[in-house]
Amino acid sequence: MDEFRELYQEIIMDHNRSPKNFRKIENAGRVMDGTNPLCGDHYTIYLVLENGIIKDISFQGAGCAISKASASVMSETLKGKTVQEAEHLFELFHDIITGEKEAAEFADELGKLIAFAGVAEFPVRVKCATLPWHTMHIALNSEAGTISTK
Ligand code: ZN
Repeated sequence: MDEFRELYQEIIMDHNRSPKNFRKIENAGRVMDGTNPLCGDHYTIYLVLENGIIKDISFQGAGCAISKASASVMSETLKGKTVQEAEHLFELFHDIITGEKEAAEFADELGKLIAFAGVAEFPVRVKCATLPWHTMHIALNSEAGTISTK
């Protein structure tokens, strides 16, 4: 178990240090800002949708290691997925992070997202991990705007 914990921490540290898809997409169809005032995390999510598929996804902004790594792993995970798959993963990730579901039972489906399962033990960090996902979820369902998880 400690071995897994180390691996998870490594994934979070790597993605915090060198985040994937950390860029602005010019002409993105959907752009959404999200903030977590409790921690000071603030990100903009860019989405390019085509025929119900996430053709491209990126983010910009700043915040703690968990929020940045979460945005990075999310972008990597969702690129090429359908909107339905993205919404499903959003719900699953939320349930894992809030401790409603057991991560080990969904290991295959979660892939690298399982690295964040330990966040469930730190309630104050839950909003950090879920902020990029909430922002993405709202971006999928509206044209443009700003959200706050407060
Ligand atoms: Zn944070």
